[in-house]
Amino acid sequence: MKVVSRRQIMAESEYFKQLPKVELHAHLNGSLTEKTLEKLGCSESAIAEYEKLTRTAPTSRSLQECFGLFSQAYNVIKSPESVYVAARNVIEDFAKDNVIYLELRTTPRANVGMTKEDYIEAVVKAIGDHEYKNKILVKLILSLDRRHSKEESEKALELILRMREKYPSVIKGIDLCGNPEEGDFHETIFEKAKQFLGITIHCAEVKNDSEVERILMFGPNRIGHGTYLHPEHGGSQKNWELYLEKKIPLECCLTSNIICGTTKSYQDHHVRHWLDLKLPFSICTDDKGVFGTTLTKEYTLVQRHFDKIPENLWKMTYDSISHSFASEREKQDLQDQLIRWFNVCHPKIVSTIQNAYNNYTPADLDILLEEHQRDVYINDI
Ligand SMILES: [Zn+2]
Repeated sequence: MKVVSRRQIMAESEYFKQLPKVELHAHLNGSLTEKTLEKLGCSESAIAEYEKLTRTAPTSRSLQECFGLFSQAYNVIKSPESVYVAARNVIEDFAKDNVIYLELRTTPRANVGMTKEDYIEAVVKAIGDHEYKNKILVKLILSLDRRHSKEESEKALELILRMREKYPSVIKGIDLCGNPEEGDFHETIFEKAKQFLGITIHCAEVKNDSEVERILMFGPNRIGHGTYLHPEHGGSQKNWELYLEKKIPLECCLTSNIICGTTKSYQDHHVRHWLDLKLPFSICTDDKGVFGTTLTKEYTLVQRHFDKIPENLWKMTYDSISHSFASEREKQDLQDQLIRWFNVCHPKIVSTIQNAYNNYTPADLDILLEEHQRDVYINDI
């Protein structure tokens, strides 16, 4: 365990809060805050349960408890109006966390009174309507559920491609998600999708070497999690070598992996290999509502546990832009923003934080520490 000062923890957290960030792996339904659930008409007791769990340190939460939270979100998102409210609020949360580029993903669902097409329309409308248009650029990734049959997924792809034709600048990617213990990866479906959309696939969330090999051979643009890829984490040497050859950017979700029990602790997280070997990756939240996190927290955790200087994570963010599904023009604009921030804001923030902390009394620091404790899980470090 690294010994850190209180000042250091707060300064890092503040730095990452201010840093313009890029989120490439965020599921709509798992990203709802208690406030959004309230707006969606969730019961008081369900919200209280949500609040209690998201305030608990990640290592003390069980996956089963978190699954309960997912179902609360599912239960209240049943109409185009509620899909719209959910998407709009999630986008606004990310904007408030200084995320300048967001790829939001979701599996289109049908309900009584709502078709899958209505569902997609509602998310696209929220992307067009939110309050922070000049602050955050949002793209949509539509997911296929791996538990669905090949025929169902082919049908879902047809709809996705049709909607993509209607909204080509918003619908930019396709994902394979769902329970990794069930279903299958169908290459032919993604082969077809590849002609029109960026591909990201939840990969190696559980040990399944033959499927991981097929996914790597297929060559998606990005992969999610990659927990069981490195041999030290249960992956096969053959697949790891294949990965090193392909160097597919990884979407890394630390807190999610801890709560899902696929990673023992932050210190043991496989992102270490990506950092050590300078392999491409981005830090992401996965389900910020259910897992009680923010992108700022995830950055702070990487900093805390892997001792990377903030500038290195600025560079990781900058590089993440090139892994995104934005247009070349949009990527250039985002990279320019990051460079401007580094030249103008980075030195100012570092010195402002330093000055502020120098002027705090020990009592002030205790109060500040108390406030930050919940946010950065100091007790859990
Ligand atoms: Zn995910």
